[in-house]
Amino acid sequence: MNVYDSGRMADVLAPLGYAPSDEAESADMVILNTCHIREKAAEKLFSELGRLRPAKQAREAEGGRMVVAVAGCVAQAEGEEILRRAPWVDLVLGPQTYHRLPEMVARAARAGGAVIDTEFPVEPKFDHLPDAAAAPGPIAFLTIQEGCDKFCSFCVVPYTRGAEFSRPAAAVLAEARRLVAAGAREIALLGQNVNAWHGEGPDGSPWGLGRLLRALAAIPGLARLRYTTSHPRDMDDDLIAAHGELPQLMPFLHLPVQSGSDRMLRAMNRGHAAADFLRIVEKLRAARPDLALSSDFIAGHPGESDADHAATMALIREVGFAQAFSFKYSPRPGTPAAGTALQIPEAVKDARLAEIQALLRAQQDAFNRSRVGLACDVLLTGPGRHPGQLAARSPWLQPVHLRGPDGVAPEALVGRVVPVRILAAHPNSLSAALIDADAAPGAGMGQPEETEVACA
Ligand code: SAH
Ligand code: SF4
Repeated sequence: MNVYDSGRMADVLAPLGYAPSDEAESADMVILNTCHIREKAAEKLFSELGRLRPAKQAREAEGGRMVVAVAGCVAQAEGEEILRRAPWVDLVLGPQTYHRLPEMVARAARAGGAVIDTEFPVEPKFDHLPDAAAAPGPIAFLTIQEGCDKFCSFCVVPYTRGAEFSRPAAAVLAEARRLVAAGAREIALLGQNVNAWHGEGPDGSPWGLGRLLRALAAIPGLARLRYTTSHPRDMDDDLIAAHGELPQLMPFLHLPVQSGSDRMLRAMNRGHAAADFLRIVEKLRAARPDLALSSDFIAGHPGESDADHAATMALIREVGFAQAFSFKYSPRPGTPAAGTALQIPEAVKDARLAEIQALLRAQQDAFNRSRVGLACDVLLTGPGRHPGQLAARSPWLQPVHLRGPDGVAPEALVGRVVPVRILAAHPNSLSAALIDADAAPGAGMGQPEETEVACA
């Protein structure tokens, strides 16, 4: 979501004459868009700020100016602390106020001191954002939902992103059509709890995410859809059915469970048991048998016993994941779990995380190997690392490398959905060959209007 937000900040600043730059040191403005989800992510901010300081001072010594802004959830949660530790920062803005950036930039120039805006304004920022200024590329993000009302024991999101908010269906559909017209072929819908999305449909009836996905799938030229991140409690039957109906909905779902222990799931305030998660997985696989799953796991939440950890390992074995993220529990200021006396020693957290990661790694390797020999469609995203090579994305989100057809510039093929055969599996990617590579240049290249077909 921070990638999406950063793009929108660039859109807001474009009318002022700012354009994205690859180099922070020579930029007129540097915005650090931050994440507060775990301590390690937040700490990165202060080391980045320390690196920027000499560049800002050098610019000022030459009579110039570099505006340094801190945006995102660390700004929201620790705005005053940032200004105390890094008084050379000019702007501090939370994730709900970046539509006001132009006004803040002007205020900072006038005031000559730091400007801080970490309110939760009543007017939703989406109503004030301009249309995207830059072409999105073949893969685009689209935020449809923000914030969270679930208050899991460990999580800062309800405090930093605020209350749950769903964008209206009409606004989402209009933004998706604009993205497709500008070249997007795959859209990933985003939200902290994306499947909690609910809104009024164009016909006035209440829609859930299943309905929205069906409407998005009807947009001509939109070949692929994904959505992330979901909560098991919001995985309703209509959404599950959409996985069986829509070929555009890719056969890969990220569905965090955090723990396999009911005792821990209760302590985490997740609102579901391990068996509920397993039932959802069963229903999803009944709707879409080739669905690959991803998840999130936390090792060492306060109060976690060896038996709780064993239950997590058992759940991972039972489900079998194509990939997953796992994190050591990180106490976050102001969250209930951070305040309990049941903290787990670091060494125990480290050992449990290592066990979880070894199992997930083995499952990911096995999943990638199981793709070898399959024929499937991939979305071409750009030139590969080597001459004549193309980069693509598989239906299961892995990067794919393949040799392009002779005599066709890779750039001309970006955005095409093409059939390939998977040749080899690597830890985080696949290699493949075009199925029609020997035919005339460009033959077998799915035209942008075509809809992607499921993998054989
Ligand atoms: N809304 C999603 C998760 C969003 S946060 C859900 O409810 O599942 C993304 C992931 O960060 C979480 O799934 C969790 O695994 C991890 N996470 C959040 N807070 C954490 C913390 N305090 N320590 C370690 N991991 C954390
Ligand atoms: Fe955080 Fe997800 Fe729980 Fe909301 S549902 S509090 S975003 S972990």
